[in-house]
Amino acid sequence: MQKKSKPYSSVNVRQLTLITTVLVCSTAMAQDKPTTSLPYSPSLDLTSMDRSADPCQDMYQYSCGGWIENNPIPADQSRTSTYGKLYVDNQRYLWGILEDVSRNEPNRNATQTLIGDYFAACMNVDAVDEAGVVPVRSAMETIEAMTDSSALGATIGYLIALTDSGSFFFGLGSEQDARQSDTMIGSVHAASLGLPDRDYYLDDDPLKQENREKYLEHVAAMFRLLGDSDAAAGISAATVMRIETALAGASLTRVERRDPLNVYHRKSLPELKTMVTVLDWDAVFSATGLNPEPWLNIVQPAFMEEMQAVIKRESLDSLKTYLKWGLINSRAKLLSQAFRDQHFAFYSAYLEGISEQKPRWRTCVSMVDRQLGEALGREFVDRNFPPEVREQVREMSRQIHQVMAERIDQLNWMSPETQTQAKLKLAKMRDKIGYPDQWRDYSSIRVDRSDYFGNVTRATGFELRRQLNRIGQPVDMDEWFMSPATVNAYYNPSMNDINFPAGVLMPPLYDPRMDAAPNYGNTGGTIGHELVHGFDDEGRKYDGDGNLRDWWQAEDTAAFEKGAQCVRDQYAGYRVIDDIYINADLTSGEDIADLGGVVLAWDAWKKETRGLNLMPRDELTPEQRFFVGFAQWACSAERPESLRLHAATDPHSPPKYRINGVVVNIPEFKQAFHCADDAPMVKAEEDICRIW
Ligand SMILES: [Zn+2]
Repeated sequence: MQKKSKPYSSVNVRQLTLITTVLVCSTAMAQDKPTTSLPYSPSLDLTSMDRSADPCQDMYQYSCGGWIENNPIPADQSRTSTYGKLYVDNQRYLWGILEDVSRNEPNRNATQTLIGDYFAACMNVDAVDEAGVVPVRSAMETIEAMTDSSALGATIGYLIALTDSGSFFFGLGSEQDARQSDTMIGSVHAASLGLPDRDYYLDDDPLKQENREKYLEHVAAMFRLLGDSDAAAGISAATVMRIETALAGASLTRVERRDPLNVYHRKSLPELKTMVTVLDWDAVFSATGLNPEPWLNIVQPAFMEEMQAVIKRESLDSLKTYLKWGLINSRAKLLSQAFRDQHFAFYSAYLEGISEQKPRWRTCVSMVDRQLGEALGREFVDRNFPPEVREQVREMSRQIHQVMAERIDQLNWMSPETQTQAKLKLAKMRDKIGYPDQWRDYSSIRVDRSDYFGNVTRATGFELRRQLNRIGQPVDMDEWFMSPATVNAYYNPSMNDINFPAGVLMPPLYDPRMDAAPNYGNTGGTIGHELVHGFDDEGRKYDGDGNLRDWWQAEDTAAFEKGAQCVRDQYAGYRVIDDIYINADLTSGEDIADLGGVVLAWDAWKKETRGLNLMPRDELTPEQRFFVGFAQWACSAERPESLRLHAATDPHSPPKYRINGVVVNIPEFKQAFHCADDAPMVKAEEDICRIW
């Protein structure tokens, strides 16, 4: 589950949307109605445990066995989890708010009218179905109208402005300049591909081959829905596959993209024009409103060269086919039922093993949260996030910063010079708790109760302009990249801040009614996790001002790498499913953060409760409660298809290993449960991985 995810430095809403959409989980049909209050479950739930299991054998089973029993994966989900269930609870609650404000009544304020009318238009599925393919017709005609490839730049710019998508050879955005973090510059990203990862196009194993055959069938089916004959649709699908395979071959792997130096190539506009001569870049930027001065980050230059080769060697008709596919694939979920069904059949049913489409209300709540998240979030925070919780979490975060500073002082592998630098970075790290101080103003978006597609397009345009208007402006350090209701958290290396939306600071994660032990294990561990991202194998390459700068002595880098390799070697030994093992080069940053986070949370809890006579509760000692509280954030269940998909794409290890892989490295865990030296959850002292 996406606890504690961390965006890349070129953080933007698109990327975060990808991260957060997989949170969607779990509901029973009987509960399928809007609520006016959130259900309560404690941050240490005894019914979620399996006390017949031995924690020294399998801590995850001991802490979560009951939860897994009690929470079968719903038919409309690929996986379910503590985080996922809370997210659905939040959604159901937001549904209640939106039901209320979507009634066309005169007493609504401007914000309520905006989100209410947007929601009403989305829920009017009859109107969406009736519109059929009409909403994309004029864009299709624009593509079709190109008479030669000189119109390509303007057409791609138009399509990006319409969809804010990377489905048309590249995507555009803005970011903090990685070497000059007080400056916002434009960025040009490599294309997003129709299959979940570049490796799906290139790997020769039988499953990937089958994935490609099914993808071809899916693309052809979508072209048939657009009116193509069987033969024409088959040719179109082959064209899409040929072009995307070429682009995939020139794309960096997910592991390569984890190195910030691999995705930072600052160029001027004339340099870009020299690099890619085949496109009219002035037309691209004028159609989208991107100001390319003074610099652009060309995220993947090798990709751009291959893109140029593709454009040169493919016929105009083939290029049109590729653009049409990008359009229909990126808009499919907004169109009529036939398109939605076909999209679901491939991406959700086939690739993720989901048997039922989620109910319409969840789609619509997600869309409001995604496009108007701070307007909806304001209503959510007002009702569910008391100021005292914000203060409690801020205090916990302050403690965790402090124990990190103390640990840095005590590190025996780090030289005094690097220790000083590390503490400087830590001192500059800010925390953002709950919600933004300044709410985003969406009032310029025109929302029409009878035009769902138009609303989405206008809100998309608003977001793209907001992103691009930041270029050349001072960095807005108060900006959030997740909405307040989101059940997730992140570290942003360019801002050097840790961010915890209100949605992740509620029971059963943060629980003011519970004793300190499980809260430090759970939320304390999350705060520690995000903080350690600033010092994981990727985050450590940035300094306290968010600049890519090597502040490490060479011998300290070597010592850090040795510790990181210890973690990688450990996780690479864990099997996910079939013969698929964890790709520890991909999950390394998250695994390091998981381990360091709990170490920091433990120290902070010990400090907080020093001198207190803590008593056992529910036959668990305080120390045991800390570790069970920690483990229960990760309770989850997942379908085999989803496990395979996420093994290839998710930088987080499967939840079971995010618990068991951590506790084996913590001697206090062994003591807490009196584990034998040779128990599976115990490593010999000399084998323990420990960085921070
Ligand atoms: Zn993380």
